[in-house]
Amino acid sequence: MFDLIIKGGWILTVDDNYTEYRNGYIAIKDGVIQEVGEELRENTEAKEFIDASGKIVLPGLINTHTHAAMTLLRGYGSDNPLKVWLEKYIWPVEGKFVSYDFVRDGSYIACYEMVRNGVTTFVDMYFYENAVADSVLESGMRAVLCTGILDFPTPGTKSPEEGIEKTKDFIREYRDNPYIYPCVGPHAPYTCSPKTLEMAMRVAIDYDTLFHIHVSETQNEVEEIKSRYGNTPVKYLKEIGVLNDRVLAAHMVHPTEEEIDILSEYGVKVAHCPESNLKLASGVAPVPKMLNRGITVGIGTDGTASNDDLDVIGEISTAAKLHKGVNLNPTVLNAKQAIAMATREGAKAIRLHDKIGTIEKGKFADIILVDVNQPHLQPLFDPYTQIVYSGKGLDVDTVIVSGKVLMKNKVVLSVNKEKSISIAKNWYKTYKEML
Ligand SMILES: [Zn+2]
Repeated sequence: MFDLIIKGGWILTVDDNYTEYRNGYIAIKDGVIQEVGEELRENTEAKEFIDASGKIVLPGLINTHTHAAMTLLRGYGSDNPLKVWLEKYIWPVEGKFVSYDFVRDGSYIACYEMVRNGVTTFVDMYFYENAVADSVLESGMRAVLCTGILDFPTPGTKSPEEGIEKTKDFIREYRDNPYIYPCVGPHAPYTCSPKTLEMAMRVAIDYDTLFHIHVSETQNEVEEIKSRYGNTPVKYLKEIGVLNDRVLAAHMVHPTEEEIDILSEYGVKVAHCPESNLKLASGVAPVPKMLNRGITVGIGTDGTASNDDLDVIGEISTAAKLHKGVNLNPTVLNAKQAIAMATREGAKAIRLHDKIGTIEKGKFADIILVDVNQPHLQPLFDPYTQIVYSGKGLDVDTVIVSGKVLMKNKVVLSVNKEKSISIAKNWYKTYKEML
């Protein structure tokens, strides 16, 4: 007797061979996939059945880099240079308003938006990560969470040492939780001293976690690291000994050829955030080159103040087209690779590939159904190209995490839509009164 059986859909397992089942089924028990195949045996029993006929079934999408609570700053200070955007808009508001309540509220809205768009796991770096964890647990999603560690005081934390201590406490509190994967999050090479980065890596190794950091996001950063330390960012990180296969580097827009080789050699993973890089005019990451060197690249939306949404299907669509245009080559980053970036490769990037990222026996049942019975998604020649080039996050119909249905018929069940809207409006009122 299974808990849940999904049957009748076009299943894209996104395993290493891209195995598909045109009229397949998935049997789930205790939150784990027990069987995947073409033909469901007659009389197989389950507590619940989901009819997926006419739908494409995929692994849940993975957003490998965001700042969830920044939904409360969506659209603020747009169309400014990165430095002005951060110094004049984002940092002052964060300094004034970011609190446990702000982060819990902003993350709540982010969880609504991500579930609605088919995201089942995300990586977050922000402040008050316990507040993010509370919203994640309420939503039924999965998340990899870290407190941003910086050399200057941040909301809730006075020093990098305190940031490190909070990180350790957070890891100890959540490390056995199957939905929350705590990690270590030094913000960036230009906001953390070598000492802070070394301390952070020590914790990541001691507690066996991911080490999440922004690297080589802008040309400015590259110049600043060069003038401070005499090296470009990746070489500098290698030199101080904080480069290894637990590093998930967000952005990686400006690595040199030599640095791409170093990333490959050290097994560093990359969270590619094309829309944020475009909106902030940071540049275009050399993703096809990185993929050619065997580097694992996941997709990230970054925060909604620089994107401005949390739509992973939209993000891979941008990525797939962007690199074709920049390389004058329509064969780079094909639709299958783009889908893998949002699923299987994303799971590798966050070191959860034995648990999620594909539809295979033994993995958590994190699964989405995409409704392709819509005018903009027919006729259907190829499910991969259809999702990447014609689809949107809002075409996701059903979302399942660990066998639990979080969205059905495009209605999010675990996070409240009206509450999300009123939270955002209330914070806007608060800003207006105080700014
Ligand atoms: Zn970021």
